[in-house]
Amino acid sequence: MSRIQDCFELAAARFPGRPCLSVAGRVWQYDELQAAQRRIADTLTGVGLAGVPIGLLGEKSFAMFAAMLGVLSSGNAYVPLGLREPPKRLGAQVRQATLAAVLCAPELRGRLRAALDLDDAVRPQVSVEGEALDLVDLRPATTASAGASGLAYLILTSGSTGIPKAVPISHHHAVSFVNALSAVLPVEPSDRVLQAADLSFDLSVGEIFPTWHGGGCVAVPSAEEKLALPPYCEQEKITIWSSVPTLAAAMVSMRAVRTGMLRHLRRSLFCGEALPVSLADAWRCFAPGAELINLYGPTEATVCVTWFRYTGGLPEDLRIVPIGAPLPGVGVRIDPLDGHPDGRGELLLSGDQVAGRYWGDPVATAAAFDDTSAGVWYRTGDVVRLSPDHGLLFVGRRDQQIKMSGFRIDLLEVESHLRALTRAHVAVVPVAQADGRVSGIVAFVEGACSASDLTRMCGEELPPHMVPRRFVPLGELPRTSSGKVDRVRLAKMLQADGSMSERYGD
Ligand code: AMP
Repeated sequence: MSRIQDCFELAAARFPGRPCLSVAGRVWQYDELQAAQRRIADTLTGVGLAGVPIGLLGEKSFAMFAAMLGVLSSGNAYVPLGLREPPKRLGAQVRQATLAAVLCAPELRGRLRAALDLDDAVRPQVSVEGEALDLVDLRPATTASAGASGLAYLILTSGSTGIPKAVPISHHHAVSFVNALSAVLPVEPSDRVLQAADLSFDLSVGEIFPTWHGGGCVAVPSAEEKLALPPYCEQEKITIWSSVPTLAAAMVSMRAVRTGMLRHLRRSLFCGEALPVSLADAWRCFAPGAELINLYGPTEATVCVTWFRYTGGLPEDLRIVPIGAPLPGVGVRIDPLDGHPDGRGELLLSGDQVAGRYWGDPVATAAAFDDTSAGVWYRTGDVVRLSPDHGLLFVGRRDQQIKMSGFRIDLLEVESHLRALTRAHVAVVPVAQADGRVSGIVAFVEGACSASDLTRMCGEELPPHMVPRRFVPLGELPRTSSGKVDRVRLAKMLQADGSMSERYGD
């Protein structure tokens, strides 16, 4: 296996008549999806699109999955675009990723036009099983898009400068990841795997390709079904749950899970943000027959790089489930942090899964990747320590990046937009819940401000999850003795304000 789509192609050759995808109330076989993949690949090849990044814009559908595979098998790289991005940021993402074309669901054509200032000329369409996608060719406008051969996909993520960063993942990185994960957590042809993550979040790669590698079926809930996943799991006979912890916490707090609903589950995978022990324990009661696995990793190292099987019985002082041991082939190093005698430090990663650079951004690349004689090391920004019994323990971040409901947000990106809008000193602070998860972000603004104006203006620059839920005017931002904004004091001010906290389960 040398290309990521080989996961699918090899299974399609072995099990043509088996189900590979369940989406929008219909189940598709491997040979059906393969025929659609070929149709899309032929269309792209027919117009000379090869070795370039191609955007995907649309809700998850049969056509979108066929497009993802068709882009790959025609020698291009796929770039999932966020569905909730305002036009300005969507345009910035398209430019950052140097897209040569976009395969776009017709109902989102207007959004793409607004983002890129395109004319409303009719675009050619490619149709699979009655579902059409517009092929929006951007080549006359983007000249720098060549050079993507060897690349499987680009994931766009929040960047501290206000411009999104694009992480280029090659076929080698992606295949190395699938092989490493499958070595420790294999998927069987009888498995039905929950695919809840958006395609623009790389957890989707971890849900889709290892499943096809094992000959299993990817089950995609609709937005409505995502609100009540346990009944969906029961109806779809899901055997492998995969989600960010926040999604499971929502099910528990809404009391949407009842004993027995998850009886088909043989494995629960959590990834993308810290997993509180309290949530893991609650989940184990609902799915007692399933092993519970905590996966950890940044997009820059292809989905996940460490894993931990949780069986309970952790020491009282551990509130977060360990991130455990590296996957095969992953190198880990802890760079000690000054003034912390307990051995905590920043986690650095190397090996075949590490991207090694950002797309077209040498400054961000130099800041995050150390190119040494011992290989390329990615500085994760995550603070960890090593436990002799449980492997790596996640402690927190050393910068202003947070995870909220699985979304990665660099608070400096929000601040940079807010500063430009207000021309004032600003600080954006996460609202932490009792179990450590983040439920929102709040902006402190020096001087007077109108919350409704700022909410509207931020909404024109940022997707909804990056718009602060409150704007608090302050005469002056608190400062530390070195003159920096005192974020700890701001966080304490939020904690003191009980109206910001939420609880799940009792
Ligand atoms: P992303 O690139 O969106 O996948 O986000 C990567 C970041 O999410 C990591 O650098 C961590 O800060 C956080 N993260 C991912 N998985 C875990 C986990 N299992 N435990 C704690 N933090 C995690």
